[in-house]
Amino acid sequence: MDISVVVPLYNEVESLPELTSWISKVMDDNKFSYEILLVDDGSKDGSWEMICRLKTGNPHIKGIKFRRNYGKSAALNVGFEATQGDVVITMDADLQDSPDEIPELYRRITEENYDLISGWKAKRYDPPSKTIPTKLFNSATRKMSGINNLHDFNCGLKAYNKTVVKNIEVYGEMHRYIPVLAKWAGFTKIGEQIVEHRARKYGTTKFGMSRFVNGFLDLLSIFFVGKFGKRPMHFFGSMGVLSFLTGSIIAIWLISEKLYLISRNEHYRDIIDNPLFYIALVAIILGSQLFLTGFVAELVSRNSPERNSYQIEEVV
Ligand code: UDP
Ligand code: MG
Repeated sequence: MDISVVVPLYNEVESLPELTSWISKVMDDNKFSYEILLVDDGSKDGSWEMICRLKTGNPHIKGIKFRRNYGKSAALNVGFEATQGDVVITMDADLQDSPDEIPELYRRITEENYDLISGWKAKRYDPPSKTIPTKLFNSATRKMSGINNLHDFNCGLKAYNKTVVKNIEVYGEMHRYIPVLAKWAGFTKIGEQIVEHRARKYGTTKFGMSRFVNGFLDLLSIFFVGKFGKRPMHFFGSMGVLSFLTGSIIAIWLISEKLYLISRNEHYRDIIDNPLFYIALVAIILGSQLFLTGFVAELVSRNSPERNSYQIEEVV
């Protein structure tokens, strides 16, 4: 099979007929063998019934239904596991991404041997309240991930070589940073393609302002996991040791000073009257706590079970 199109969707019933017939038209015009994997992320608007109905008229459609809403990352992850095509295309359900881009994406993966091509919505029709934070996110992500040639990490339209999707795990809210996950897994030939940004035709966005908070927290986790992911002890532990040592040096200094002054029978301040004593105390306690945090993080990261535990209710 040439292409698997993975579409995560949550309450997108109106878009589905047009989306699937448009994808099929592009595929047939280009004589691709393909499948359309519609992953229903717990919709409540009849999307699943629509998928079942569309499937009877279009054998290329496959549907996976989650028992409840687990988020776009989980939907992509399950879609990735199910794919059979040599090239995997992801696309949002809301018709904001154009299926017309598929042939060129396919060509670049198969002929130019890219691991991943990420869509870049160079011209956006969003208000500045959305485009400015998005720009900031993208430039921060570029710096933190070292992927310097992408302008738009979060575009829903992407193409992958099948080995990429079989070797990465999209968890939490990490759908915003799949190129980074791919790079961590060792897939470094990552490219970009300018794609059309269309206005949402039906329904409304599923991510409100929470996208910025979540995106920011994920950015931090990219930074920390990227730097210390496999070795959290190196981050927390080193800060802990530093703090502990600083506190100990101050404490030793205070004690030596006291002993010295006693030995010379000179007047000395009681140690607990010295503000440095409290700084030392806090530094030592904080240091041991940070060290223990690193130790616990190390244990957890070595023994973490499957991060994804979603329930699939039905497959058609
Ligand atoms: N989506 C999903 N699960 C969710 C939220 C969104 O599968 O919990 C899907 C949604 O149906 C759409 C895609 O993810 O196909 C992108 O969502 P949306 O269009 O709302 O995001 P935006 O375009 O505003 O970034
Ligand atoms: Mg959208």
